[in-house]
Amino acid sequence: MEQLLGIPQLSTGDMLREAVAAQTAEGKLAQSVMRSGGLVSNEIVMKIIQDRIQKEDCKLGFILDGFPRNLEQTYLLDELLASNALAVSRVVALQVPDHILEERITGRWIHLESGRSYHVKYNPPKSMKDGKLIMLDDKTGESLTQRPDDTPEALVTRLENYHTATVPILDHYHTKGIVALIDGSRTPFKVWEDTAAKLRRHEI
Ligand code: AMP
Repeated sequence: MEQLLGIPQLSTGDMLREAVAAQTAEGKLAQSVMRSGGLVSNEIVMKIIQDRIQKEDCKLGFILDGFPRNLEQTYLLDELLASNALAVSRVVALQVPDHILEERITGRWIHLESGRSYHVKYNPPKSMKDGKLIMLDDKTGESLTQRPDDTPEALVTRLENYHTATVPILDHYHTKGIVALIDGSRTPFKVWEDTAAKLRRHEI
């Protein structure tokens, strides 16, 4: 999407994971909440976003990924953008039933350095033969890891938060006519084709 729109993608999840890895003050506060699948405080997340969008590469716009996650963040974001004479122009919501998400997330393995993502069933690495969990990156041969919050236990909390805190955001932006609902249960290629076509045709 970054390439299609020519603007950077800012993922609060990635930025928080970097803060945890670097053990910054914010990272230390966020670590245990993230591991259990809870939402990090609005204060921390807003600060991270506020600092990031001041950077030069955001001058022509930016894609927010995983943010906002609740109504308070939504109102604060709208305010922050309005104070810079900006506004949210499009919202893309990927819709996936919970049981499919559970299978996708608990089977996900990641190559940390590159962000390449694998799945035990749908996209196994070449190293995984005869169903044995030997998980190595196809390109570098380095070990793959699982996110500490990609567990069935943490997923229960993540899905609960999604349905109660995040979904209401869609109503807020629906009234502005800028929301595209995309069926995310299909293959990655189909999901991308549909999203890109809608963005190109300015349907959203
Ligand atoms: P993600 O990679 O988007 O699934 O985010 C991973 C975790 O980071 C979430 O489960 C939350 O603990 C935290 N997180 C990411 N974005 C936000 C946000 N906008 N508000 C609160 N917590 C967040």
